[in-house]
Amino acid sequence: MPICACGNCDLAIVTSWSDRNPGRRFWSCLRNERRCGWIGWFDEPMCLRSVEVIPGLIRSMNKLQESLQQATLQARMYKLIILFSWGLFAIHYLKHGRSCL
Ligand SMILES: [Zn+2]
Repeated sequence: MPICACGNCDLAIVTSWSDRNPGRRFWSCLRNERRCGWIGWFDEPMCLRSVEVIPGLIRSMNKLQESLQQATLQARMYKLIILFSWGLFAIHYLKHGRSCL
């Protein structure tokens, strides 16, 4: 385990999501709950192709997650509308009985 430049031994492995090092893990200092700025790479450098491809995949994944959230909200709204319409139908049926069917 590496030792930080400030001498702190309380380090954590963190994953970088920057465009230059997507998914590459590094050691980060946790001294006094704020980082002293030192990092030590845990993983080897990524190949150029990975550095080019991974940020695009992450952006695509984020767009898909946003679409999924919107679709989930829309589905909830449709369920509420259906429940409300069935509630109105039940109220109408209770008031007027079978005569209106
Ligand atoms: Zn440190």
